[in-house]
Amino acid sequence: MRLLVFLLLLSCGETNRCRVIESRLEGGYGLQTGWCRLYTVVPHGVARSVSLNRDALARVVAGIRADGVPIVNAFSDAESRRRAERLAEAYGGTVMSWLSVPQMVGETIYVPWEPGNEPDTLSALLTYAHEYQHVLQDRAEGPEFGMVYGLDLMSRAWFEADASNAERDVIFALYGETSAVKDDWASTLAAGYATGPASVSVFLGVLRAGDVVRDRGYFSTLGGSRVVGWANDV
Ligand SMILES: [Zn+2]
Repeated sequence: MRLLVFLLLLSCGETNRCRVIESRLEGGYGLQTGWCRLYTVVPHGVARSVSLNRDALARVVAGIRADGVPIVNAFSDAESRRRAERLAEAYGGTVMSWLSVPQMVGETIYVPWEPGNEPDTLSALLTYAHEYQHVLQDRAEGPEFGMVYGLDLMSRAWFEADASNAERDVIFALYGETSAVKDDWASTLAAGYATGPASVSVFLGVLRAGDVVRDRGYFSTLGGSRVVGWANDV
């Protein structure tokens, strides 16, 4: 563990980044290789003024699309339906249930609603932050992202915990605080993403490290900081 921290310090260049990375490691995470590039240091002072309205949501959608990421309604997208059918066949479940889960595949964000007609502004905002963070993970990891996500349970846990931190960055911006991470959240997340009991400590470590980062005055994810920036029109 210590050797890994030392190597990351060498490879990261930026002092703040590595301080936070070290705190993540101390929190229990130490497996993923590409994540150093994902971390961002963005003061969150400006973000406290975010308000929850449709204009902010529309700006976030426009920002994500301007970054080259299509957002489409999974139900109306033929490719999404084909993929859902393949997943349903391989893993069980129904096509409807696969399509009703927001997801990022091939840097396209699929949501179960018509973009621009989101049912609930807060959950839509959090969903976009979460899925956009996956896009950034995909870009950082390169072509192996899908395979690593699918096959390496600890990495998948980290990717999902990191995407959850993007949501918590947005919550922090909206309300000035986030509720404390509870132990049972990690178990629920590990079950929900089928990452196994061993991944519980990864979820806990990454989520709590995110809180440490926010308490120090920074966002814990690039996705979260960009979404808040777009919502603020900055
Ligand atoms: Zn996710």
